[in-house]
Amino acid sequence: MADRADVVVVGGGIMGCLLALHLAEQGVERVRLLERDGVFQGTSAAGGGFLSGWAAYQPETAAAGYALDFYEKTQASGHDIGFRRNGTLYVAADERSWQGLRMGAEDDALLDPARVAELTNDVVAGDRVVGGLLDPNGAQVHPPLLGVALAELLRARGGVVETRRPVTGLRMDGSRVLAVDTPAGPVECDCVVLATGAWSNRLLKPLGAFLPLAPRLTSRITTGPIGIPESLPTLIVMGAIPGDPAKDIPLWLRGQYGELLWGGTYRGYPRDILLDAEVPDRLDEIPLDGVTQVRRVGKEAASFIPVLGQATSIRLKHGAPCYTPDGRALVGQVPGFTGLHVLTGDNEAGITFGPGYARVLAEFIAHGEADQESLKSWQVDRFDGAFTSESEVIRAFLPRVTA
Ligand SMILES: Cc1cc2nc3c(=O)[nH]c(=O)nc-3n(C[C@H](O)[C@H](O)[C@H](O)COP(=O)(O)OP(=O)(O)OC[C@H]3O[C@@H](n4cnc5c(N)ncnc54)[C@H](O)[C@@H]3O)c2cc1C
Repeated sequence: MADRADVVVVGGGIMGCLLALHLAEQGVERVRLLERDGVFQGTSAAGGGFLSGWAAYQPETAAAGYALDFYEKTQASGHDIGFRRNGTLYVAADERSWQGLRMGAEDDALLDPARVAELTNDVVAGDRVVGGLLDPNGAQVHPPLLGVALAELLRARGGVVETRRPVTGLRMDGSRVLAVDTPAGPVECDCVVLATGAWSNRLLKPLGAFLPLAPRLTSRITTGPIGIPESLPTLIVMGAIPGDPAKDIPLWLRGQYGELLWGGTYRGYPRDILLDAEVPDRLDEIPLDGVTQVRRVGKEAASFIPVLGQATSIRLKHGAPCYTPDGRALVGQVPGFTGLHVLTGDNEAGITFGPGYARVLAEFIAHGEADQESLKSWQVDRFDGAFTSESEVIRAFLPRVTA
């Protein structure tokens, strides 16, 4: 007898897990999640877990609000996903960064150095920074815990999670999806969603389709337990190398289990080595030049965040978030095909906005209707085929973050 599902979701990162769960919650009966590796082993394994307005170039307010509610409810339902509403604290280490923070900020959100020290339990040395800005709505989750919880919730709703089952191709009747192929045999279905992140164009290429996506490498550094307090807000630190915008990069830091999870958006090699290249199945052997650059900035920042200078063994996780020309996600039908959808284009904020994307797409697939405004903003063919390479995509995206 044929192996059949109502909807096959390909990819067990955060996007795929969230979508499969929302489909099951919307009443879709046979939801099958196929993941080539384990759940949350791709880019989602490296996620920092910040939920806040830090990705300010993305105007996804509704998605962000829904995500906060979703995570809060998930935590309250007895699944520990590390959800904490500790706020997000932007720290200015030099005058230039402080002027940047103050621009347009409400006065009561601005903190003097003593308050920064107090709020962080002296993780940030107050006498060495210029000031801070607190976003009280900032929250956090721990991605590895989230992966476990989402898979459990999906199974409890009757969904099937199959790990170590790669999809090797899509079986089509003209432009209509018939099945996905896997080494263990095909799974027949009328609807497939690719939630395959940096690997999405690999599956679409044989169909002659291209998504305007650009994967860029970035990494998370995790220390051993060094007593980071549970109450620490998520931190974004600017001006670690005082007054030098060319060398300085913002650092992000978060605590979990007393460990410090941190990183920064480095420039240069090997950030863009995946553009228009074959993305390896696993990202565990990438060159470490970028991580070295981030650690150098961390060393500078140790003068006011002493834990960054503490000798401890570190662990690394690398990921490849996918950027789009306008910084917004790609959610919906692949143009020219019937029954083929995508949920990708995370723009390094898939944890912050993912539940919102998943809800809208699940409603659309299950009932044929969903929030039209969101679907339009995330429509896959909104660029009218203007992009044919990943390098072009990143050239269009970059002015958004460097402006
Ligand atoms: C260092 C770092 C820090 C970050 N910090 C944050 C943060 O603080 N807040 C935030 O919101 N976001 C953050 N992000 C971004 C966030 O992690 C991503 O937006 C999110 O993980 C993307 O999820 P995804 O499901 O699209 O991709 P992935 O997690 O990569 O999932 C895609 C999955 O598809 C699978 N797959 C691919 N091809 C196939 C196939 N043929 N068959 C079966 N399976 C397949 C892969 O194995 C993979 O598991 C960060 C990312 C990094 C790297």
